[in-house]
Amino acid sequence: MFIETMQETYVRMPWFFTVCFALLGAVVGSFLNVCIHRVPRGESIAHPGSHCACGAPIPWYLNVPVLSWLLLRGRAACCGRRFGVRYPIVEALTGTLFALCWVWLPWQQAVAGMLFCAMLVVLAFIDLDFMHLPDAPNIGLAAAGLVCSFALPGLHDVAPQKFWLVSALASAGISLVGVLVGAGLLYWFRLLASVVAGREALGEGDIILLGGIGAFCGWRGAVFALFGGAVLGALILLPPTLAKRICRRDADVEAEGRAASLASCEGDEMAEFSGAGFGREVPFGPWLALGALVWFLWARKPFGSWLDAVFAVFDGLAK
Ligand SMILES: [Zn+2]
Repeated sequence: MFIETMQETYVRMPWFFTVCFALLGAVVGSFLNVCIHRVPRGESIAHPGSHCACGAPIPWYLNVPVLSWLLLRGRAACCGRRFGVRYPIVEALTGTLFALCWVWLPWQQAVAGMLFCAMLVVLAFIDLDFMHLPDAPNIGLAAAGLVCSFALPGLHDVAPQKFWLVSALASAGISLVGVLVGAGLLYWFRLLASVVAGREALGEGDIILLGGIGAFCGWRGAVFALFGGAVLGALILLPPTLAKRICRRDADVEAEGRAASLASCEGDEMAEFSGAGFGREVPFGPWLALGALVWFLWARKPFGSWLDAVFAVFDGLAK
């Protein structure tokens, strides 16, 4: 009876479940905000419940994702303290990602994908805040990827076998290769970038993160996340940085004294685009996460077959 009602709802109102998953994502996003704030500070994510910086607890009806922030115009009801626009953004982002998982992916990938998206959002925003990826959630991503791969072989498009265990082990194997390729790839990328830059580039946390991305996306996804993330990062960061440089030139003419102190920063800006700045001036984790999301939600089919074609050429040459 219940299942029939669900099926009928699905046929008559396909948008209904999309809205449900978007709302679920927004509620999860509200919890992710707590994780982003507390995990790097070593605080418990369960206790105490949501509370304002002034210490007053936030009741559930003032803790509705996005809406509460809009209605209260970003201020706390208890003391008028400002709440950053980051809170509703994380909630809306998570809601959107959950809805996209549901709409675009087969169910096993959608289920694993919602967990994957949530963990990536936490790691990316912690990295933005602290320029550091804490080990526990970072290693947890790889562990979650391995467990999901075992439980949901469809995550890696493994066809169901006669014995369930066969497909589960095959999928876990693909995931493990993803961890090793992702972590190994970034290890060498970091080594080369450090040699080129003449100083340490990127962080150890980035190595673990790309391993975790490989656990959910396989080795092709790890490759895509690294290079796709770097390209997206450069494309998005380049215009504002160039604009800043041009503005600073103008400042040179206006105020010599102030310009002198500004000019001393210019060397670092160029380093940002040699790849060396990632992990120092600019955290690289969010770009890896963005590359991974683009892969997981969309690029898997078009770029996956393209990567396979490239390797087929190598194989052909070797024969
Ligand atoms: Zn307050």
